[in-house]
Amino acid sequence: MSQSSEQSITKRKDDFSKWYQDVIDGAQLAEHGSAKGTMVIRPYGYAIWENMQKVLDAMFKETGVQNAYFPLFIPESFLKKEADHVEGFAPEVAVVTHAGGKKLEEPLIVRPTSETIINDSYSRWIQSYRDLPLLINQWANIVRWEMRPRLFLRTTEFLWQEGHTVHATKEDAEDRVQMMLDVYKKFVEEYLAMPVIAGRKSDTEKFAGADFTTCIEAMMQDKKALQAGTSHMLGQNFAKVFDVKFLNEDGEQEYGWQTSWGVSTRMIGGLIMTHSDDNGLVVPPKIAPTHAVIIPIFSDEKEKKQVMPVAEDLAEKLKLEDLKIILDDRDMRPGPRFFEWEKKGVPIRIEIGPKDIKNNSVVAVRRDTGEKENIKQDECAKKIPNILDDIQKNLFEKASKFLKDNTHEVSYWDEFKKIMQNNGGFISAYWCGNAKCEQEIKDETKATIRCIPFCQDNGSGKCVHCDKTGKQKVIFAKAY
Ligand SMILES: [Zn+2]
Repeated sequence: MSQSSEQSITKRKDDFSKWYQDVIDGAQLAEHGSAKGTMVIRPYGYAIWENMQKVLDAMFKETGVQNAYFPLFIPESFLKKEADHVEGFAPEVAVVTHAGGKKLEEPLIVRPTSETIINDSYSRWIQSYRDLPLLINQWANIVRWEMRPRLFLRTTEFLWQEGHTVHATKEDAEDRVQMMLDVYKKFVEEYLAMPVIAGRKSDTEKFAGADFTTCIEAMMQDKKALQAGTSHMLGQNFAKVFDVKFLNEDGEQEYGWQTSWGVSTRMIGGLIMTHSDDNGLVVPPKIAPTHAVIIPIFSDEKEKKQVMPVAEDLAEKLKLEDLKIILDDRDMRPGPRFFEWEKKGVPIRIEIGPKDIKNNSVVAVRRDTGEKENIKQDECAKKIPNILDDIQKNLFEKASKFLKDNTHEVSYWDEFKKIMQNNGGFISAYWCGNAKCEQEIKDETKATIRCIPFCQDNGSGKCVHCDKTGKQKVIFAKAY
């Protein structure tokens, strides 16, 4: 066991950001890289990412998406072609000016996102309406220079997927924007057990170069918002700049309608801050690299001979139920072994000692509630999967209740300020739609418009800040 995993974890109420870092250290998920802002994802953290990838990749392919790979380096001139795009990304791009021992004729951008380089290819691949829709995703690393790095949440280099599609009509593209946001919502809620609010970004918060951006927003345990995924309607903006044209059914040239959508390793940060507790990481069973750890307990060779065959047999039986099981028979006292797996958030710990052997039972301990249950050995194959389902459900319900309890309907500016100064959380309020008003709210309270939820009651009311009429309620919050 490494030194870091023996250190205790700061309590959430004492220092939430220190707690977050301690949970990551304790579970051995990641560490800072030597180049400032970079991140090393350790095997256990990477295993969680691989599980996320596996599920999402299958969900994308189910909708007809194929994977491809595009270059890391983008000619600087490409980024400059779309005015909003370059303005949005310029402050955080890394530029290669020298290579092969020489100054480059044209500097290369290390991709902060791939719309430009992908459209360059699409302009050659698309000729006719028969080539559409073009539905491509890439799994890749991205570089956006980060001055204040935080593991998983903000790092100079991170991993993500970016989908880029081209359609013959605006309607088809808009359908795809919604379809992929629905995929993200389903994935985040069903697998990560993170409830989210789906909606549209305000123009200030939308993707640089998009007509509009849709998103899902989750609430962390410190009541701040975390954007968990975005799906953008790019319209014809990039198509016009990169000449992505096709011959329509009437034989006329038209520009393609495009979307892009992405989620990143940031989701791991969201997972940590949604479910983990003062004892460390809590991982929802559906995304957990290990579902249960079996801990045989014995104090001498004689006991070991009794306990080990039962533990080994149980491990085999549970593996047949498609569960990922670790049998931790290391020569260590039980306490430190319990502690270590608890910090890694393994959903169930199964203890088997000499007393349990006599009773033909085991002790199952839930990571989410700490509840202990004696289970007959021959019932484990049936009961353990049921407990895992229950943990998954419980985590989602708990987080949903937290989201609900900390979302406030607010009509008055004084109340808005008071909530943001004191307890925080999400504020649902009418907003006039004016960007200047939005900026004033942000300047005064640090709260931004997280999204304009799709679910609206079609009413209208006074803007919470300026009293002008607002037709839509929006969600305000401080955000990561
Ligand atoms: Zn206003």
